[in-house]
Amino acid sequence: MNQHDAINEVFKSTANSPCILCQGPADFVGTFTPDSAERFGAASGKSRVIFYGICTACAQEPDFDAIEEILDYTLTDKKITHH
Ligand SMILES: [Zn+2]
Repeated sequence: MNQHDAINEVFKSTANSPCILCQGPADFVGTFTPDSAERFGAASGKSRVIFYGICTACAQEPDFDAIEEILDYTLTDKKITHH
């Protein structure tokens, strides 16, 4: 599998997931590059891109703060451990 195929696979699987904001059917795939990739499981010094589904309505005026909050909650271990 080359890199292009790998990206297509990610897009296909993400496109089947619900809209991150309203949980409706997603029409687009958005990307989010966290400032602190380590929080999202990347090795130290490596960047990490998170893919998420978003629907047409939410993509009109995406609330990036809300998206970041949701991704942060979903992808980090905040919900299981409390520091
Ligand atoms: Zn939506």
